[in-house]
Amino acid sequence: METPPPVPLVHASLGEKELAAVAEVFSSGWPAGQGPRGKALEAQLAERYEVADAVAASNCGAALHLALLALGVEPGDEVIVADYTFPAPAQAVRYVDAVPVFADVRADTGTVDPRSVADLITPRTVGVIAVDTLGVPADYGQLQTIADRHGLFLVEDAACAVGATYRGRQAGALAEVGCLSFHGRKGATSGEGGALLARDPRIGADARLRSSFGIGSIFDMGKVVGLPIPEFTEIGYNYKLSDIAAAILQVQLGRVDELLARRNAVAAQYTELLADEELLTVPFVPEDRTHAWQSYVVTLDAGVDRSAVAAELRGQGIGCGQGAWATHVQPVFRSRQKCPVSADLFARNLAVPMHAELTPDQVERVVNALRGAVRTHSTATRSTGGAA
Ligand SMILES: *Cc1c(COP(=O)(O)O)cnc(C)c1O
Repeated sequence: METPPPVPLVHASLGEKELAAVAEVFSSGWPAGQGPRGKALEAQLAERYEVADAVAASNCGAALHLALLALGVEPGDEVIVADYTFPAPAQAVRYVDAVPVFADVRADTGTVDPRSVADLITPRTVGVIAVDTLGVPADYGQLQTIADRHGLFLVEDAACAVGATYRGRQAGALAEVGCLSFHGRKGATSGEGGALLARDPRIGADARLRSSFGIGSIFDMGKVVGLPIPEFTEIGYNYKLSDIAAAILQVQLGRVDELLARRNAVAAQYTELLADEELLTVPFVPEDRTHAWQSYVVTLDAGVDRSAVAAELRGQGIGCGQGAWATHVQPVFRSRQKCPVSADLFARNLAVPMHAELTPDQVERVVNALRGAVRTHSTATRSTGGAA
């Protein structure tokens, strides 16, 4: 029997239009950052997200770092971070020598639990980083109320959530500062890339300055008559996005609706086919928000051997992964905190192939393989009507 071709976990949708945009940058002679393409991308982002300023950055980790610097986080400050996520928020807190405090998450969405955030506030707390976990926005209504009551900043890590919405508003613009990722595994991509979205133009200006070693755009300086020598007034970084990447992103942003429609269709098919499977739980999306489906993650029953399931899927050429991480148990943070819900999701979640190129046949194949694997590797008694 012929083995069917593999079904990868992720696949970036980059094509001819993106290639043509890159070719244009090559002939323009300015491939570096903060050139005409970068400026155009920033304008496009500011318009799309209805924010005062958008700063293109080399990646979302850089955008989070710039956000914390612009918000004035100081060494020793405590910043509450969502625990169940790619651990970039806690890393960013450590970049500025501040202390990440891990907030547990909702079991149904994996997003930060506002009650957990409220419980962790101390006199040293300066802010909160919420995460739109795997593409579903957090509870910004409640989080903003808590932040306002205690005078804290609220940052939205919307790395996975381009195209998602919360109460009709775009994910990425749900807090005073939002950070986006355009990594190859996210819904819109330039390979690597990111952006910081700011409601306050001073935050945007500060982030832009520090993203280019603390001086303004070299491209702009080249147009000035005479020879004004710019001064370095801040310690900055090189967190600029190249104009090559910016050109790719301009095309990708124009395709977000199209790509998201396909991810939505894949998610709907998975959910329809898996909803009745007792050995796993399908993702939950609250009524007041929409998912960007960066990943499609199921939670396996406690009696299912996840690594055996994963090995079986991979053996059949089907990509899978653990989903996000429980941050507090990562060795680098040496935390003694407990986030039991996050730890449980980290132990039981399984990400299955999700991208815009998946066909209905492939989804069906994944579902059949997954169903078979969870049944084979479950300790649960499946006989109906038997004793508990
Ligand atoms: C992917 C991801 C990041 C990191 O994004 P990069 O652009 O790769 O730096 C940050 N936060 C979350 C929640 C992510 O999923």
